[in-house]
Amino acid sequence: MKTKPVGPIPAGYHAIGGELAIAGRPVSDLVEAAGQTPAFVYSRGHLDRRISELRAALPARIGVNYAVKANPHPAVIAHMAPLVDGFDIASSGELAMINAARIDPARVSFAGPGKRDDELEVAITAGVTLNCESEGEARRSLAISQRIGKTPRIAIRVNPDFELKGSGMKMGGGAKPFGVDAERVPELARLIIAEGAEWCGLHIFTGSQALNADAIIEAQGNVLKLAAKLGEEISGELPKLNMGGGFGIPYFPNDEALDLAKVGQALHRYVDELPQPLSKTQLCLELGRYLVGEAGVYLCRVIDRKVSHGTTYLVTDGGLHHQLAASGNFGTVVRRNYPVAIASHYETEPDDIVNVVGCLCTPLDRLADQALMPRAQVGDIVAVFCAGAYGASASPSAFLGHGPAAELIV
Ligand SMILES: *Cc1c(COP(=O)(O)O)cnc(C)c1O
Repeated sequence: MKTKPVGPIPAGYHAIGGELAIAGRPVSDLVEAAGQTPAFVYSRGHLDRRISELRAALPARIGVNYAVKANPHPAVIAHMAPLVDGFDIASSGELAMINAARIDPARVSFAGPGKRDDELEVAITAGVTLNCESEGEARRSLAISQRIGKTPRIAIRVNPDFELKGSGMKMGGGAKPFGVDAERVPELARLIIAEGAEWCGLHIFTGSQALNADAIIEAQGNVLKLAAKLGEEISGELPKLNMGGGFGIPYFPNDEALDLAKVGQALHRYVDELPQPLSKTQLCLELGRYLVGEAGVYLCRVIDRKVSHGTTYLVTDGGLHHQLAASGNFGTVVRRNYPVAIASHYETEPDDIVNVVGCLCTPLDRLADQALMPRAQVGDIVAVFCAGAYGASASPSAFLGHGPAAELIV
């Protein structure tokens, strides 16, 4: 039977006693610590390494923000707090998580269309920067600020007239629900300044999950050009610029890791030659999956091994209710295999072609198709890698009532 390759396993995972180990602990031990399968395990060592690689590659002038929606687990937020410069949130629920971690709201910015009045009020009260997505939202924010007697911190999210090429999710270029069309930004900025708000500059996010360094470099160049032009038109200078990010990680066979050094070198050049309106601007990138994606592994257990019309199925207690993206149902057109392994026999030669599926009653619940794996039995543990971002929080865990996965940080 034909096999389909699985995606590349991220660096930094090894075997101990033949089992996959994370942070030096074999998966059998981790599952016991988690108290159950399925479980997400997040590795502090991976988080630390990724941030230090980034800091080494980027100019010191450019800060790094963490986009909380990628993984809002409290222990992950707490681990990131001393490592990053700022946090980007997208709801008052995420603000509550930030507050629970005792993170200074002055480090936090709040983007996202459809912010409710009550969300704007708690954010303004806390002192969070609002990345306003429309003229209407800016007017509501100013009115709420007046009513509660607090000066709001306001930036404008720009809908740029370009996009991040090759990105998995396009967030700019043409009509969008996000941000204010670039040509209308100066007028709105002048209104925000005239109304006495603390003017916090611009937020320009052009896309997500890009692996091509040249595409990111081009987009960042365009972001800086647009920000300089808008800054010039608004007041001659810009206090702050959130430059977006969109750095991707390899999920699928033939995906190649982003050339971070190349991106870093280009950003050094840009920073050395910043146009006048940006000469004093505070700059940051905002990254989600690049910071946390490879730090997470999803572990589930083989419940049944069965054969149907000559095809072997490993039926696990996990599935798309925790791993919507790995199942191929979160923004992908053609389903391809994530990096998946038999964690209990991590070093064994593969000689078995299997379909790894979840426990949900739907043909959509697939974790690996026609994968060449070591022979696995009932009770063995399966690992899905690249599970640190958009896993637990971006999957329909209430669907079919199996409940959420455990989450553990080591
Ligand atoms: C989702 C999102 C991010 C994070 O995207 P990643 O692909 O996880 O890096 C950053 N900024 C904004 C505005 C977002 O909506």
